[in-house]
Amino acid sequence: MPELPEVQTTVDGLNKKVLKSTFVDVWSDWSKIVKKPRLPGGQAKNFDAFKKEIKNKKIEKIWRRAKNIIFDLSEGHSLLVHQKMTGHLLVGNWQLVNGDWKPIDKKSPLNDPYNRFLHLVFFLDNKKMLALSDARKFAKVELWKTEELKKELDKLGPEPLEKSFTFEKFKEILKDKNGKVKQVLMKPEVIAGIGNIYSSEILWQSKIHPEKSVAKLNEKELKLIYQNIKKVLETAVKLGGESFSDYRKPDGTKGDFDSERRAYNREGQKCSRCGTKIKRIHFGGRSAFLCPNCQKL
Ligand SMILES: [Zn+2]
Repeated sequence: MPELPEVQTTVDGLNKKVLKSTFVDVWSDWSKIVKKPRLPGGQAKNFDAFKKEIKNKKIEKIWRRAKNIIFDLSEGHSLLVHQKMTGHLLVGNWQLVNGDWKPIDKKSPLNDPYNRFLHLVFFLDNKKMLALSDARKFAKVELWKTEELKKELDKLGPEPLEKSFTFEKFKEILKDKNGKVKQVLMKPEVIAGIGNIYSSEILWQSKIHPEKSVAKLNEKELKLIYQNIKKVLETAVKLGGESFSDYRKPDGTKGDFDSERRAYNREGQKCSRCGTKIKRIHFGGRSAFLCPNCQKL
């Protein structure tokens, strides 16, 4: 699932390609992907209402909050896209042939099979298309009144890459938390944007076992985790996120974080620090990856 670095990469790419353009129309073969507006009368009505509302709205700002991509639009509306498991946004030009989107040029993102699941396509006035490719169709698209959305987003935990996310603030947030450190780091109401991949990487870098209780972390360990949250996420943003999963950048190409990935999905491979085999464990319904030698409980 795309996490903070992938979502930020998408937002940075979209800002270069579609900022200040206006929605002309929208197409979908899976209108359930649009969760808002919700109207009595079924999904077809919802999508019709969405289509009507989005037309002629201009994209004034594109930004990220947690794992959400937010387009602030003209007339006090905002479009929210949560890519969930396998969704990602692409910008380009394609043609619809017998219900399937086909490439127009040789270098099309559609040459990569991970980019071929186009279920929602917006047509923009700059002649580009903005599409959501989503193999498993879990992504979420919502049209909000900007003011209402702001209130909703305020319920999320702080953004770890903001300057205001200080070590003091981090300690304050964890002070009354119980549970295993990996699970706590992944809670959106605690810190925004960290999921399974980057929590595994942050704890590997900090040499701390993912099942260690938050209450048992000492000052030095807390500092290490805090520093590695910033370091790992900043590095991943710089590299354009990971792409060993379905995620792709808006131009359809892969991110470069995979060479930096030390623990996540490396079960059975040697720890790059000590040579011990990376282990996969399960708790809280999720996998965690760790070096059983370097990472202490
Ligand atoms: Zn190790």
